[in-house]
Amino acid sequence: MSEYDLVIKGGQVVVPYVGVQKVDIGVQVDKIAAIQRNISTDGAKKIIDASNRYVFPGAIDSHFHIGIYRPLEEDAASESTSAASGGVTTILSYFRTGRDYLNKVGPYREILPELLELSAKSFLVDYGYHLACMTEDHIHEIEWLVTEGGVSTLKYYMFYKLLTLAGATPEANNYLMIDNPVDFGYLYRFMKEVGRVNELYKKNGTISLSVHCENPEIIRATQEEVKANPSGNMMKDYSNARPPWQEELAINEVAIMARYTNCPVNLLHLSSQKAVEAGIDVARRYPEIDFLLEGTLHHLGLSNDMALEQKAKVNPPIRSSADVNFLWNSVLKGTIKTVVSDHACATLEKKKGDLWTSLPGFGGTSLMFPVLVTEGYHKRGLPLHRIAELSSANPARYHNLYPKKGAVMVGSDADFAIVDIDTEKEITLESLYTAQEFSPELGMKFKGWTDCTILRGTVVYEKGAVLGKPGSGQFIKRPVKLHYA
Ligand SMILES: [Zn+2]
Repeated sequence: MSEYDLVIKGGQVVVPYVGVQKVDIGVQVDKIAAIQRNISTDGAKKIIDASNRYVFPGAIDSHFHIGIYRPLEEDAASESTSAASGGVTTILSYFRTGRDYLNKVGPYREILPELLELSAKSFLVDYGYHLACMTEDHIHEIEWLVTEGGVSTLKYYMFYKLLTLAGATPEANNYLMIDNPVDFGYLYRFMKEVGRVNELYKKNGTISLSVHCENPEIIRATQEEVKANPSGNMMKDYSNARPPWQEELAINEVAIMARYTNCPVNLLHLSSQKAVEAGIDVARRYPEIDFLLEGTLHHLGLSNDMALEQKAKVNPPIRSSADVNFLWNSVLKGTIKTVVSDHACATLEKKKGDLWTSLPGFGGTSLMFPVLVTEGYHKRGLPLHRIAELSSANPARYHNLYPKKGAVMVGSDADFAIVDIDTEKEITLESLYTAQEFSPELGMKFKGWTDCTILRGTVVYEKGAVLGKPGSGQFIKRPVKLHYA
């Protein structure tokens, strides 16, 4: 008699940091219980035939924006379905107070429980939150967030500084619903506190600050130049309006502050050669500071040399094909360590207006394996176990989910994406399982589609059928080493 609730049979198992092994996996309840050749299926409650397929650890999409443009519960239900259909089993989503999201301000001691209550009924896959501190009170809550709240990663978006500086319009100020500046003095106090709390709890994982590194004051100037003299190519104009060198400047500003505050930093969505070079440079200059370099699916999969519509507006912008090649080389070399979607499900309504007034961002979470397998493995020789690192093991380690998530190891959560790496399919809206009414990748052809997604031992997606339900996902308190010791 098999002692397993589930046996995944005959697949090529992709083990991060190791390689590919033809082994079976035995699951008891929600955990991996055995990894070995020829596990007996006699009496197993469920058997999944994975022959001719690759069994990856479930992807962890560590940059997501659930509820930014649509009601949170609705957005969590539809967009975590999109994630599940693409082999993503854990979402780490950004959240802040103010307009969009819950349109609320207040301490996270009050808002986090409310956020988690809405989330509990809504997600199909597991999830966690990175929180943006918007007030001094929030900064004072960081230690509580780490020890009690299950939130061990924070966020700062440099653009908000401009909205709260003297001279900002009341409308701008009203957007964040705060009356305090979130300038560099504020960032200094924020980073000092993240650094302090990290020092206290780093045995359990890195308490880090994710920073959107673009310099808003430079953008205000360069955007005026482009507006006065547009080229007519919208996506190139948008890139020129937020030139790569202002990312380089912003990364240096943040890195110097990180050095003097001892604050670990996640350099979000590096879009250009200059941004990645700045990330490499600051990591070399300040080896004592932990810098994570993050890449996104859209900066790796799209370039402004393609015929893209205005709907592909995103911050930082889509760059040139030379930048895209540089990003891929950085992925191959291992300087970019995590690949994420930065998924923000935008309605067409939000994309109305001109290039300057329409809202930025779009979704793409279900393209994690298609982009990495097609553009990475097939076109550039990126090994499959490196794909498992970029999409799962590295985000798990850097964001304090490891080894509960991101590991193919006895005792880890039985989260898997069973992927067909060879069949090519054209992207249609239906194939993305999203509520978004468009996709910049529509009509493009990719290999690397997920056949079956398993969340803690339960199949939540299989061959076009969504089997998980809103509420199947659990909130994962991080660092897991602190909360599930
Ligand atoms: Zn984002």
